[in-house]
Amino acid sequence: MKCITCKKYSLKIICKTCQNTLLEPKILTRTLPDGFKIYSFYHYSEIEDLLKTKHTHIGASVYAILANISFRRFSDAFTFINQVYAFPIDDHVKNGYSHTAILSNALKSKNIYPIFSSLRAKNHSTYSGQTLEYRLQNPRVFHYTFKRDIDAILVDDIVTSGTTINEAKNRLLKSGVEPLFALTLADAREP
Ligand SMILES: [Zn+2]
Repeated sequence: MKCITCKKYSLKIICKTCQNTLLEPKILTRTLPDGFKIYSFYHYSEIEDLLKTKHTHIGASVYAILANISFRRFSDAFTFINQVYAFPIDDHVKNGYSHTAILSNALKSKNIYPIFSSLRAKNHSTYSGQTLEYRLQNPRVFHYTFKRDIDAILVDDIVTSGTTINEAKNRLLKSGVEPLFALTLADAREP
């Protein structure tokens, strides 16, 4: 097949050269008003074309490669005193796979254990292109169905206004869970 980035022949949908040169992850930090931190590995604009494959037939492969470069490396370097659980935000299945579940799965390590289908939104109205006011007036309304008294990492693919992550974090707090921070692939706020 051809690498979707450089168009050269490749065994993977994104070739090793592109993975190593164009997709070197960084750590971008966003802080919510209450001090909660959201860490992202890329600026949205850097990987926009790749993120837009999400709802196509190659989306799952592209997300798996991105997850392997960023989330898996993070997990390998992460240590914490307690077992930590990773919760994909709203990992319902669309087009046969859940992109946030793919990202969370890459965190699986001796310290981090992903938990699927336990943090679900009732409201799936699209936030894309909507104002902050609209987002605040149409909350996701999360349901949480896993254990209390644990430490958690929230996982999403893109952080835009931060309202979804903030709401998910508040849901965990109300459920007796300690949210440590959130991890996303891309931060949509431009540098
Ligand atoms: Zn390439």
